Amino acid sequence: MLAISDLVVRYPKADENALNHVNLTFKKGEFVCVLGKSGAGKSTFIRTINRLQPLTTGNVTWEGTNLTELPETKMRSFRSDMVMIFQHFNLIPRMTVFQNTLTGSFGKRPTYKNILGLFSEEEQRRALEAIKEVGLEKHANKRVEALSGGQKQRVGIARALLQDPKILLGDEPVASLDPTTSRKIFELLKRIHEERELLSIINIHDVHLAKEFATRIVAFRDGQLIFDGKPNEVDDHV
Ligand code: ADP
Ligand code: ADP
Repeated sequence: MLAISDLVVRYPKADENALNHVNLTFKKGEFVCVLGKSGAGKSTFIRTINRLQPLTTGNVTWEGTNLTELPETKMRSFRSDMVMIFQHFNLIPRMTVFQNTLTGSFGKRPTYKNILGLFSEEEQRRALEAIKEVGLEKHANKRVEALSGGQKQRVGIARALLQDPKILLGDEPVASLDPTTSRKIFELLKRIHEERELLSIINIHDVHLAKEFATRIVAFRDGQLIFDGKPNEVDDHV
């Protein structure tokens, strides 16, 4: 279980809290979409979970461990339970699909050899399997700069899978994609979510897509949690 309690985030020099006393708990198996207008606090929320963003006060607890108090060295093994996929994919453009996917091994176990770009046969086998899982086997040796947006996000997902995650975090992963491609990416995410029994928490500004795929929706406005419930109960203008 992931518990977020009394979470407050205030950016330096900001007049108001980006997140204001947020309380939420999530369970394995939930496919959560996070809604809210631009500036509502969605991205801050997602990034606070894996400590990409420091919190001001409050706690994030994962499977009984309070992550807030952990020193960075101990945070590493917990952070590897969580993967993040991004709006702009965060890939290395001149590297191939295979090479980008392999870098997911860093998250799980950064070794001296990995840093030199040397990956074990097992890591390479798993990279190829992940590439297959996202449907990119024909493109494994292409540089990612030559791919479409949807294909790039598939590489982001394959890289995430190498980390063998328990929590999948998405910070607007389809915001740069057209509607058809966005739906296909969500279909892929939902399939992986179910096969691997993940907890998925994904920011999205498309209410309709969220309603179609989510098992639960939470929404923010001006840093306040304004909705937490079933997809069919959420207002289309949230
Ligand atoms: P969303 O993802 O819903 O668009 P954000 O989490 O990005 O919202 O932003 C929430 C609030 O925090 C907004 O008022 C935004 O302007 C502010 N904010 C976000 N990032 C920073 C930052 N690095 N420094 C200062 N303020 C920020
Ligand atoms: P299947 O391949 O039978 O659907 P899974 O859903 O468990 O089984 O795995 C999906 C893909 O991810 C597989 O192709 C598999 O090789 C790869 N994979 C398996 N275990 C791991 C792991 N621990 N970390 C990352 N990828 C894995």
